Amino acid sequence: MIGIIGGGLTGLALAHFLARRGVPHTLFEAENRPGGVIRSARVDGHLLECGPQRTRLVGSVGELVRELGLEDQVVTAPPGLPLLVYRRGKLRQVPFSPGDFVHSDLLSWPAKLRVLLEPFTRGPDDTERVAHFFTRKLGRAAYEDLVGPLYGGLYASDPADMVVGLSLGHVLRELGIGRSLLLPLLRRRGRISPPAACSFREGMQTLPTALYQHNQDNLRLGTPVRRLRRSADGFSAEWDGGELEMEQIVIATSAPAAAGLLSEIAPDAAERISRLMYNPLAVVHLHAATELVGLGYQVSLAEQLSTRGVTFNDSLFGRRGVYTAYLGGAKNPQVVERRDDEVAEIAVREFREVTGYEARPLAVARERMPAWDRSWAALEGLQLPPGAHLAANWESRPGIPGRLAQAKRLARLFAEGALPRAAPPLRLA
Ligand SMILES: Cc1cc2nc3c(=O)[nH]c(=O)nc-3n(C[C@H](O)[C@H](O)[C@H](O)COP(=O)(O)OP(=O)(O)OC[C@H]3O[C@@H](n4cnc5c(N)ncnc54)[C@H](O)[C@@H]3O)c2cc1C
Repeated sequence: MIGIIGGGLTGLALAHFLARRGVPHTLFEAENRPGGVIRSARVDGHLLECGPQRTRLVGSVGELVRELGLEDQVVTAPPGLPLLVYRRGKLRQVPFSPGDFVHSDLLSWPAKLRVLLEPFTRGPDDTERVAHFFTRKLGRAAYEDLVGPLYGGLYASDPADMVVGLSLGHVLRELGIGRSLLLPLLRRRGRISPPAACSFREGMQTLPTALYQHNQDNLRLGTPVRRLRRSADGFSAEWDGGELEMEQIVIATSAPAAAGLLSEIAPDAAERISRLMYNPLAVVHLHAATELVGLGYQVSLAEQLSTRGVTFNDSLFGRRGVYTAYLGGAKNPQVVERRDDEVAEIAVREFREVTGYEARPLAVARERMPAWDRSWAALEGLQLPPGAHLAANWESRPGIPGRLAQAKRLARLFAEGALPRAAPPLRLA
């Protein structure tokens, strides 16, 4: 029996893939709702996303959608929606082709020429900061106005606190990028065309809910695991009023929860995991009547705003008048501690400053994102006892396709018996 702790997307997908391979398992989720940070809600009739706003219809997502019979629930964004960056009093379009780059007003001509020198610069050094890497490769302006907000925005982190070898390095390797960032792009004629952004008619929550409904025989909602300890068969999970013996366990929770769960069976790992930093974010849903068209905007790192970015749910999926603003993150964590009405007022004011449109707040939520910053050095050399495994967005790629890929890979390894089982506990003679 394999025990999975955590019924966010990772744990649910792992349970699903194990079920398809006929591997016995039980999943424990603390909340009464499956999905973890994926949470969609209706407020005043508007569909709002508190966690991820969208995913992309890449292979792993499309495959799961078909397996769950959700094809008719999928909504995709219109192709070619622009991504914008706020800089020097204006929203400016991010260039996704050489032609767009030439005509873009996001970078000045000297800044564009500096970008073109990139192939002559050194490749990444695992020990350097991400901000330093991008600045020496592309120049300060392209870092602050283009790649810094886009890359840092994924984690709500400050790239000055991120280390290449602990975050960006994995991404570059997966994309097959060695010394130059530009040359692989030019080989593809410079055009970046990722698969369509997608969601579901009733929001992202549809995906974990369907995973839960397909696999509910092996899933226990409202069952927070309070304690994990070694047992004769491997491990024992305890919850209020119950206990289960398992040969292997997979921890699919946030880092703070994982640290608590591992404290008895792997105290050194627990201490290291507890050092990982999370970035606080205020998510403010706004309603506005605008003519804005696009995926949304990020704010240049050179601008002094509390807002890091805004998603245009209206353009993306036809959610009339809905915009989602993210405030705070590593550069301005204090704003997240302010009262809801104060955070909402800041979001409205800054939305007006950036777009010129009036908005009214619909709801305020708070989230935390794994920072993937220098605190990730704590994971180097991390060891878990045989039979204990991690599957989490702080341990491998945090995006939804990355979560599905990790769950699928783990399920295959379990089915093949390729993962080490728990060693029997030491017995004193
Ligand atoms: C604000 C935000 C925006 C994002 N935007 C995007 C996006 O646009 N696109 C994208 O691809 N990705 C996005 N992501 C990333 C992606 O959504 C997450 O990485 C992914 O959903 C995490 O899933 P998970 O299952 O690994 O973790 P979680 O969702 O954190 O799930 C962990 C689960 O463990 C449970 N748990 C904790 N302790 C216990 C316990 N003791 N016993 C039992 N259960 C326990 C929790 O209740 C929770 O349900 C975003 C993330 C956030 C936070």
